[in-house]
Amino acid sequence: MAMVRPERRSRRATGVTQMTEPNRTDTTSFGFREVREEERQGLVNQVFSSVAERYDLMNDLMSGGLHRLWKRDFVTWLNPPKADGRDFRLLDVAGGTGDIAIRYAHASGNATTAVICDISPEMLAVGQRRVNDAGLAERITLIEGNAETLPFADASFDAYTIAFGIRNVTHIDKALSEAHRVLKTGGRFLCLEFSDVQMPILDKLYEFHSFHVIPRIGKLVAGDDQPYQYLVESIRKFPKQEAFAAMIRHAGFERVIYRNLTGGVAAMHSGWKI
Ligand code: SAM
Repeated sequence: MAMVRPERRSRRATGVTQMTEPNRTDTTSFGFREVREEERQGLVNQVFSSVAERYDLMNDLMSGGLHRLWKRDFVTWLNPPKADGRDFRLLDVAGGTGDIAIRYAHASGNATTAVICDISPEMLAVGQRRVNDAGLAERITLIEGNAETLPFADASFDAYTIAFGIRNVTHIDKALSEAHRVLKTGGRFLCLEFSDVQMPILDKLYEFHSFHVIPRIGKLVAGDDQPYQYLVESIRKFPKQEAFAAMIRHAGFERVIYRNLTGGVAAMHSGWKI
């Protein structure tokens, strides 16, 4: 199945007189750097465009394979229907090379489908290859799009997942409100993201691993440490477990809870559109 590239949404309505916008000087963090808000997504895109071909290998090397266990737990918590013939439509945002959607398809019945939506054509190209190789092209579609302005109709999915994606989004509140919009009533939101380590000793080991080991692996294997420096810095900037749960509630989700993985190195947040 071919990858779909929807038309980009026009930012201005035609025929409407535009008021002159004041000079915007809003800044935001790109890792530990402060950058202009409108510049950030382009910088994130450069990171994923440059790591796409080695992304899966680097994930294994950087996490010692742990990301596979976390993703397994994530899909288990999602608990998609197992019985053949039961419809269920998942949207996996920032789905990149397809890890979550492929795991989900293997773990669920033959009538379940998934849409992978990601802003990076390079990550999606790797994802499309993997979906084809897994023989899942009939059940998994890949679409280029931004988590902040999803190219999907209201109430069109049973579940929304985002794994290691949301910290890359500039306006997390917009992404959460889009998640709420595209879910059906009764739909589930699930997020897997690096989080705040809540175990003494492990936090120190993790700090060392993040800032000294990961960029070196990046340099050795991918020939560049900068994308990996960004990845670890962006983890430190992301809200801690409780703060992120509050943001999810603020977007309108109910019964919001989270589970820590590996002492809080990662956390899964769950909420429902009721
Ligand atoms: N979910 C995959 C996984 O767990 O292996 C990929 C995670 S990767 C660390 C982050 C992904 O977020 C990249 O593929 C990147 O292109 C995507 N991304 C970053 N900003 C995005 C945005 N605003 N909208 C959609 N995807 C975005």
